[in-house]
Amino acid sequence: MSGDIETKLRGPGAYVLARQAMDAMEAHQVWPTAVNFELWTHYVGEPDSALSREIARLLSAGEAFTDTVADELAAAFLPKAKLNDQIRDAGDALTKELDAVSRAIQSAQKSSEAYGQTLAGASKSLADMEEPADLRTMVDNLSVATKRVQRENKSLEQRLSESTSEVTKLREHLEQVRRDATTDGLTNLANRKAFDEELARACADAEADGLSLTLAVIDIDHFKNFNDTWGHQTGDQVIRYVASVIGRVGAPPRFAARYGGEEFALIFPRESAEIAAVVLEEIREEVSSRMLKRRSTNDDLGAITVSAGLAEMRRGETAHSLMERSDSALYVSKRSGRNRVTSAETVQTAA
Ligand code: GH3
Ligand code: MG
Ligand code: MG
Repeated sequence: MSGDIETKLRGPGAYVLARQAMDAMEAHQVWPTAVNFELWTHYVGEPDSALSREIARLLSAGEAFTDTVADELAAAFLPKAKLNDQIRDAGDALTKELDAVSRAIQSAQKSSEAYGQTLAGASKSLADMEEPADLRTMVDNLSVATKRVQRENKSLEQRLSESTSEVTKLREHLEQVRRDATTDGLTNLANRKAFDEELARACADAEADGLSLTLAVIDIDHFKNFNDTWGHQTGDQVIRYVASVIGRVGAPPRFAARYGGEEFALIFPRESAEIAAVVLEEIREEVSSRMLKRRSTNDDLGAITVSAGLAEMRRGETAHSLMERSDSALYVSKRSGRNRVTSAETVQTAA
């Protein structure tokens, strides 16, 4: 399937296909990024493919074709992105493999050391005895064997240290690949995939140690208007700004992520809703008090605001349910005027 597009892009009609993709992107106000170009060449070149049907569905639903959406589509449908996952899995396997090799060498080294010590011991006790000449020969042989083992030992040690530094290099490289796969390109916060995994882990931890866990979702207010007025690029700049505020507060052990287009999530391990609400209030205040300027033209953009919702995990609650309650709290913030923080806990008490 995708091979067809690759072939078409190198054959007659290649430029027609490329131009059609560009036109379609422009018609739908989609940025001609590399990922989008790849998605949209499929869209115009293979209208019956699963990917094209999904794009058509998104368009008819009036969904904004954001970078996040594009990344999700690419991850789900484009073979290269799938390959990326495979590389990661292979990388994990390789790390395990190399760990095992490294351990094997280490244990070989230990036994070889022990062998050397045994020989040295035997050699010593025999040498101490006054015995016939053939016994002396034996001692000499043993001593030669000991020297040889020591030499082997040395070269094994050398090999071990080489292989260890190789493993370290590989691990660092894999770590980089993993970081790229779990980071949102626009904001450098964790992406949704990383967030989902982290939330599941945090919930399991909280369940295991019986400590509290609070989840917050934060959404930029009236962002569609902002985009429509100032353009997507300035919109991106604002998303980055909000991300920087959230990221600063969300440093480890907290966990900050870009959940979707203009939505963020913050995990507060071992922190109550009361504490998290104070932090979110600070974020809200900081964002709303800053007068923004458009970088390209220096136009005053005014201030933007964010709304937040938070919920504290209940015993036995699933990550999904916690997320839903945070979302509901966010919805309450939106409904009651925006630029505010709502805790699911206080909503329930009031109800
Ligand atoms: P509300 O206060 O209810 O949240 O209103 P809203 O306009 O912020 O919410 P809505 O969900 O209607 O619109 C979100 C908009 O965010 C739609 C889309 O144009 C914009 N958006 C989503 N992702 C991106 C992005 O990556 N970059 C830019 N510039 N805009 C984005
Ligand atoms: Mg919004
Ligand atoms: Mg939103």
